Amino acid sequence: MKIAILGAAESGVGAAILAQQKGYDVFVSDMGSIKDNYKAMLDAHNLSWEEGKHTEAQILDATEVIKSPGIPDTAPMVKKIIEAGIPIISEIEFASRYTTAKMLCITGSNGKTTTTSLIYHIMREAGMNVGLAGNIGHSLALQVAQEDKDWYVIELSSFQLDNMYAFRANIAVLLNITPDHLDRYDFCMQNYVDSKMRILQNQTADDTFVYWTGDEFIATELEKRQPACQICAFHEVASGTCAEGTELSGYIQDGNFTIKSPRPFSMPAAELSLQGKHNMRNMIAAAQACLAAGVSDEALRASLATFPGVEHRLQKVGINNGVTYINDSKATNVDACYCALDSMETPVVLIIGGKDKGNDYSQLTDIVKEKCRALVFLGADNSKLHDFFGNFGITILDTHSMKDCVKACQSVAQPGDTVLLSPCCASFDLFKNMEDRGEQFVSNFEQLA
Ligand code: ADP
Repeated sequence: MKIAILGAAESGVGAAILAQQKGYDVFVSDMGSIKDNYKAMLDAHNLSWEEGKHTEAQILDATEVIKSPGIPDTAPMVKKIIEAGIPIISEIEFASRYTTAKMLCITGSNGKTTTTSLIYHIMREAGMNVGLAGNIGHSLALQVAQEDKDWYVIELSSFQLDNMYAFRANIAVLLNITPDHLDRYDFCMQNYVDSKMRILQNQTADDTFVYWTGDEFIATELEKRQPACQICAFHEVASGTCAEGTELSGYIQDGNFTIKSPRPFSMPAAELSLQGKHNMRNMIAAAQACLAAGVSDEALRASLATFPGVEHRLQKVGINNGVTYINDSKATNVDACYCALDSMETPVVLIIGGKDKGNDYSQLTDIVKEKCRALVFLGADNSKLHDFFGNFGITILDTHSMKDCVKACQSVAQPGDTVLLSPCCASFDLFKNMEDRGEQFVSNFEQLA
């Protein structure tokens, strides 16, 4: 039996090591160049690999293909695999066949990494034998191969979910579904919604599904699907409508963080470590998921108060001339930027731009007019931004490097303002990735006079 693996980064290399351990003949192929640390891991296991090409003969004779979530179905090699009728699965799907660990999975358009990191923090602090996997941490496959755990907390993107079939999440968290990555879904929102809802597939009456009732799509999808699992519906405030047959069971009311199900729990909201409306959602979701996983009230209370937050997500960088600089480089879609603006309490100089993923900026119209003193565009091509925001009557500055951008922000911001990097777009036009963009923002801030 042969497994071909497309993409040799964290998930692909982990999958290769696990597949070899389970007795498969394994071939790893990457169209780009493979990082040295991953080459060393492949070589240490005597795995055969190639880079800079896909040798069809070596791939089309596989019984199954494990594809990195970054490779779209439109890639020529993937099209050929589909035409040949060879099943394509994700690394998570493959690894789950070889472990009896319980799976706590988090998806959504925004808030995945924050919520996943928070849940992992809570479970680890509670003394559970837990691994962190998916988009963050080490691959699930590598952990299953080398040091299997009792629980995994897994951040799942829609791309991973697309190639998952038999995988079962014991606890699933769906934070929200807002337009993102539509270029990978034929610009059809329903396709993207269906992908996110796959987190529910295979859940049984013993499992738990946690979702945010403020979302436009999830309730309707639940009514369509009628899942058998226990449903925990949450909202940051104690109002709003839930899907038919479900009740609001997590909210903040009168300064109290309140959970009704899967088990009653409460603590003063003032003791929570994260701020901002969207973080309240993330904390309620995390609390419901962790209570379902059996975390004690004491451990949960302590961890919700001590979680330090995650870099590049509404991270306060510092103050210069009375202006606060905030790095939210991870805001790579419109809704994330909206949430960031929503939690600002001062006039804002907003930095937006980058690689546009088919964005519709209309959601930002009112909030930009209400909160922004100026917009600083930062992208290789800012023309779409000029077309949309150009007639708002707000100062606009056009920049194409982080250095010029931070200087432009300094020139226009007034004491008491906030400079917010929350760009709505991917970073690849000018930066290596969103971390590079955030780090360049921080280092240019540090050089300001
Ligand atoms: P993801 O991993 O889904 O991209 P992150 O936790 O990295 O999510 O946060 C990405 C961005 O989304 C952050 O910039 C933050 O401002 C915003 N965000 C975080 N949580 C939420 C939420 N629950 N709803 C909407 N936006 C959120």
